[in-house]
Amino acid sequence: MPDIGAPQAATAHACDQRYFGALAEGRFEIPCCLSCARFHFYPRLCCPYCGSQELQWVAPSGHGTVYSVTIVRRAEGDYTVVLVDLDEGPRLMSRVVDMPVEQVRIGLAVRARIDAADEGPLLVFTASEEQA
Ligand SMILES: [Zn+2]
Repeated sequence: MPDIGAPQAATAHACDQRYFGALAEGRFEIPCCLSCARFHFYPRLCCPYCGSQELQWVAPSGHGTVYSVTIVRRAEGDYTVVLVDLDEGPRLMSRVVDMPVEQVRIGLAVRARIDAADEGPLLVFTASEEQA
């Protein structure tokens, strides 16, 4: 009996592979719709706004704004879990690093950076230089 869900799942997985593959090569890229010109994240098979499957991977500016902050307290060091609104529109979950967690606040202008983490390349954010 054919598994109808399999090809779809395989392709969705390919979206993630495309994303993490670029990260591993030092590139932060997200899908942009060729039809309506909107970015989205996480990577999907078709545009969540207009349904088009004509997608192109584009490197966003990396600039964004902190939308929400959660501080995770751990013995080995506190860290933040943030939602960042990219200038291009998509909202994604990440961390703000290289600053005291108490200083990470909503509205903070941040910039994307790719860190090498134990589990692989990790997209993190640092405070933008402009507001220093
Ligand atoms: Zn679209």
